[in-house]
Amino acid sequence: MKPTPDGILMPGAEPPRLLLVDDQPANIHALHQVFVDSGCRLLMATQGEQALVLCRERQPDLVLLDMCMPGLGGIEVCARLKAEPATRDIPVIFITALQDEANETRALDAGAVDFIVKPFNPRVVRARVRTHLTLKAQADQLRRLALVDGLTGVYNRRHFDEQLVLEWRRAQREGSTLSLLIADIDHFKAFNDRFGHQAGDDCLRRVAQQLQAGLRRPGDLVARWGGEEFACILPRTEAAGARHLAHQLGAGVRALALAHPDSPPGVVTLSLGVATARPQLMDDAAALFARADAQLYRAKSEGRARACSEEA
Ligand code: GH3
Ligand code: MG
Ligand code: MG
Repeated sequence: MKPTPDGILMPGAEPPRLLLVDDQPANIHALHQVFVDSGCRLLMATQGEQALVLCRERQPDLVLLDMCMPGLGGIEVCARLKAEPATRDIPVIFITALQDEANETRALDAGAVDFIVKPFNPRVVRARVRTHLTLKAQADQLRRLALVDGLTGVYNRRHFDEQLVLEWRRAQREGSTLSLLIADIDHFKAFNDRFGHQAGDDCLRRVAQQLQAGLRRPGDLVARWGGEEFACILPRTEAAGARHLAHQLGAGVRALALAHPDSPPGVVTLSLGVATARPQLMDDAAALFARADAQLYRAKSEGRARACSEEA
């Protein structure tokens, strides 16, 4: 649990990050005093451009934004934050000396969640910040739940499908290759039948963690695609690299040495199928998936506990 302003506790490992934006150092100082004991981590910016960069790179949980600044003004900063997918979920509270309805309307129209007039009452500022940090934490939690598989903690199929389309388009723009890997646990029905569903669930968690740990590049993604089936998206990865990774992931799961008496190797193993495409040249993401799936089928029919790809 982490403290929020005025000592309210919220679940979560990290203290909330609060970005204070004002061109006047004296105003930043005054706001800093308001939150210095709040338990928030404070970030500060004195220019609009700087605030945008901090939002992209540090992902604050809330921005307190001055309206009148030389250069990029507050309204423009807010509008840009809301236009960009990477920053649009960050709530913005305006804090300004311009006290009139027209400005308040402009601020709310630009996407702000609240509007505070200077000179401010510190208790009111703290209370409003606390409310919006709580809402942000709840929204973050919902977004996480929508992306993640509840049993294993890796991404779910919905997120996988969305990311596959995005990565496909990105590879089309860049002219880069995209590889896909599908992994299926061998004879998993027999594992469940022998050890029970609970042990089966534990096995799924161990395999998911092992696959996650085996992916090294920041863009790589593993998802639970179905019951005992996992899929990995490997952006900017050539066929040879994807094949190499598939062998490594298979070996990693085998090295867990999870006993499986009903499978010939005696331990839990994976069958893997790999496919690679240059999206600028061909088909669509669904066709790439079908090719990886065909290779998985081949791995199953050639004896399981192996990785197959079109080239090898
Ligand atoms: P193959 O080597 O051909 O892949 O055989 P298999 O037994 O692994 O494949 P099959 O598709 O026949 O069975 C998959 C089994 O996976 C069926 C089900 O018992 C198990 N399973 C699917 N989802 C879950 C789950 O969430 N938890 C547990 N414990 N088992 C699951
Ligand atoms: Mg299976
Ligand atoms: Mg299966």
